[in-house]
Order: sequence, then structure tokens, then C-alpha cells
Amino acid sequence: MAQGIPDEVLMNSALMKELAEAAKDAAALHGVLMRIQETPNSTELVTYAPFTLFPTPVPKAVFLQALAVQTHYNTLVDKISQDPEFLQEALASTIEVDDFTARLFKIHQQILKEGRSQSIVLGLNRSDYMLDQKDDGSSSLKQIEINTFAASFGGLSSRTPDVHRRILQMAGRLEESQRILDNNPAAGLARAVAKAWELYGSERAIVMFLVEENQRNIFDQRYIESELWKRNITTKRKRFDDVCKTGYLDQDKRLFVDGQEVAVVYFRNGYMPQNYLSEQTWDARLLMERSLAVKCPDISTHLAGTKKVQQVLARPGVLERFFPNQPQVVEQIKATFAGLYTLDMGPDGDKTVEMALADPDRYVLKPQREGGGNNIYGSEICQVLQRVKGTAERTAYILMDKIHPAPVKNYLLRRDAPLQIRNCLSELGVFGTYVRQGEDMVMNECVGHLLRTKNSEDSDGGVAAGVAVLDNPLLY
Ligand code: ADP
Ligand code: MG
Ligand code: MG
Repeated sequence: MAQGIPDEVLMNSALMKELAEAAKDAAALHGVLMRIQETPNSTELVTYAPFTLFPTPVPKAVFLQALAVQTHYNTLVDKISQDPEFLQEALASTIEVDDFTARLFKIHQQILKEGRSQSIVLGLNRSDYMLDQKDDGSSSLKQIEINTFAASFGGLSSRTPDVHRRILQMAGRLEESQRILDNNPAAGLARAVAKAWELYGSERAIVMFLVEENQRNIFDQRYIESELWKRNITTKRKRFDDVCKTGYLDQDKRLFVDGQEVAVVYFRNGYMPQNYLSEQTWDARLLMERSLAVKCPDISTHLAGTKKVQQVLARPGVLERFFPNQPQVVEQIKATFAGLYTLDMGPDGDKTVEMALADPDRYVLKPQREGGGNNIYGSEICQVLQRVKGTAERTAYILMDKIHPAPVKNYLLRRDAPLQIRNCLSELGVFGTYVRQGEDMVMNECVGHLLRTKNSEDSDGGVAAGVAVLDNPLLY
């Protein structure tokens, strides 16, 4: 591809080796770091977070399209979260068969019954896309999914631009190095958290990061914490267990954990069934949901980010319900939808099963799970559908058109992995933030981007899942 790094550079193995070593140093120098897998809860040993040697060409028009639609996606997610009938209808079949979604939904219903105690809502989301290559060589922006819960890499992606600039300089590609975009999602995410904290209105109250058991990716979060400390906002990292043992609500439903009042709970854990180690963990989630603390996300926004909701949104007329007088907004969002198909019991779902069995390589089969490594591809789609097609079990999944981005040659730098040229596919994420107080949207922003790149031989993605690596777009 003309816009990429020429083959003669990529094939110069002595130069690639030299650049790769320097690139890893640059990553360490600029703080693109992770703890090592062997000791995920200690900073005694750290390594670079995996990244590409070179940035990846991305058409400017498509990149700008993704940024431009982000505030509308923020609005959409927020509107869905405030529409209990819609959520009920959209998730009705899923919660019959998917225990995890059902448990989340039960919390959602309990909160609705009791009435929400906090009218301030904080949304930090990331809408992910791939560029589907069309026959004429152009590409179109297609949403893979939207993450409303614990969308990560806003911190580290603030630091990768300097790394790629340095590599390109060293490769003698000054012009390209100057075209690497600045990016600072961490600052934007923190701005929204700070706004929610301020509206909560207690100087003493903290921002609680509800973190995982395994904290390998801690630095990604530390960048956001750091931005909050700059504003003299106290951040504390707590686990579910801390909330189980010390959490309580006072008579005004203020949340206290380890004796400190919590203004904002920023969930970086709790999106997978495995995160809920016991019934007490579920109790802790419910306690936080019932509290006066601002939740990011709250339970209904969590549900708004499910893949089933994404599929229902693609049905004719559904987006119009959320934007009744804004046909341009509807068009803008719709333009990014890939084909999404229901597996509900009934003729539409039957048709989906038939379609998928006839040509499984055209699709991806998705359960209601997050974090990478859960989707089903190729012949395995047939195996799964043959097993579940006659039963309601199939409604735990949705089917989606597979997107085919144009492959680009690059090197993926990862600890202990050999330096090998690969055909790579990229996924562009856009970070969106919003804060609402009652009826008032007090903030709605697009705060940066994330490019992740993987070997084209890997079907699934995810940096934390060990498949994709961090990258930067080089616009053309
Ligand atoms: P998760 O919530 O686990 O991240 P995703 O829907 O993002 O689930 O899927 C995980 C990965 O699978 C993506 O990062 C992407 O690499 C791949 N993938 C998902 N949907 C598609 C699709 N429609 N076409 C091509 N690849 C896809
Ligand atoms: Mg994803
Ligand atoms: Mg996801």
C-alpha cells in the first residue's frame, strides 16, 4: 500500500532489529508499560505494553467520521439507559437463557423499583470499528461494538504517539513522523470523572477505582488517576472484596468503603461472570448500585452496552425511536452499522440460523460476553448452531457480518515473541465521555482514539486478551 512503510524498509532485517530494540526502549521511556504476567500485582518487574513497530495508514475521512459520530453514540447509550421498556424488550429473550445478563438485569429491575438515588450519570465509553474494504478499494467504517464498561487503553494510548514518532525518525521517515496525531484520552476521561466528582459535591469524597484481582494493566489506569490527582481529587483502588468487607450505606445512602465516602465508583472490574467470585460479590455490586455514589457505568448503562442491544438497534425504526426529530443523526449512526441478525425463536431467528449454516465464514457468532476471546468463527459456528438451533439457548447469541479490513504488513512487538513480519488487521476505537445531571447533559465529548492491530490469522482481538497490540493511525 502506497501510504504504508515501503517493503524494502520492512524487509531490511538488520534495520528492523535495530528499530525494534530502540522502539522497546522508547516505550519504556514514555511509559507504555505493563506489569509482567508472572507478577501481575507488583511493580518490581515491568515490561513494555505490546505495540506495533510502525503506525498503520488510516484514511482521514473515515477517521474523522468515527470522531464525528461519537457524541451521538454517547447520547444514544445514555438514552437507552433511561428507557426501561426498551431494555426489557430488547433483553427479554437473552435473560431467559444467559445467567450473567439475567443477574445484571435483576439488579437493574431492583434499582428501578427502589428508585435511583443518584441523578448524576457518568459515561466513559469506547466505540470500536473496523474498516470494511469495498471492491473499489475504498473502505467503510463499521462498528464492531461499543464498550460502556471498563473500556481500556485510554491511558497508554496517550503515550504511544511519541514512541511511533521516534521510530519513524530513526527510520528516516520524518514526514510521516510529523503526521502522527497527538492523542490524550486519559485527560479527557479524567475531565469527565472530575466533573461527576464535582457535581457530587463533597470535597472529602474519593473516586474509587473498582479494580481487578489481576492488575497487569495498572499503568493504563494510573494515567487517569494521575490526571485526577492534578485536580487534587483523591483516587483509591479497591477490590470487590474491600467493598464486601467494609462497604456500607449511611442513612442518606452515601457509600463508604474503608471508612471513606465514595463520590464516584469507576468500574474497571465486573464485566465478566468470573469477576463475581461469590454471592458476596454480587451483593457488593448491588450495594454500590443502590448508593448515592455516581457509578461509571450504572447498571442500566452496563446493559445498554450488551451485544443483544446492539443487534436490536440495527432493526428498522429502532434508532428513530431515540432520535425522533433528527434524521441526520439517525443516518450518521446507521452508516456505521454492520449487518446484525437476531437468533430469537421465530421465523427471523430461523432465517439467521439458515444463513449462518450456509456460509459461516461470512459471519461472527457472539455471546453476551466482554473482554475478548468469546466469539465464535468459521466451522465452529456450525457446530454451535447445530447444537442450539432448536432450543431457546440460541437466543444467548447474536450473529454479525464479518468485517474485512485491508491487511497491512507490520511487526508486532511483544515480550518474548520473535520479530516477524505479519499481515495485520486494525481496529479503531473512539473514546466518548458524558456527564448528565437529571435532564441536563452537562458534558458530551469525544476525547481521543485507540488503534489496535493484530495478526490477520487471529480471528478475535483484545490487547489484554494477548492478541492485539497498541498502534497509532497514520492518516492519509
Ligand atoms: P469483546 O467485547 O470481547 O471485545 P468484540 O465484539 O469486540 O467483543 O469482538 C472481539 C474481537 O473479535 C474484535 O476485537 C475483533 O478483532 C473481532 N471481531 C468482532 N466482531 C467482528 C466482526 N464483525 N468482523 C470481524 N472481526 C470481528
Ligand atoms: Mg471489543
Ligand atoms: Mg467489548
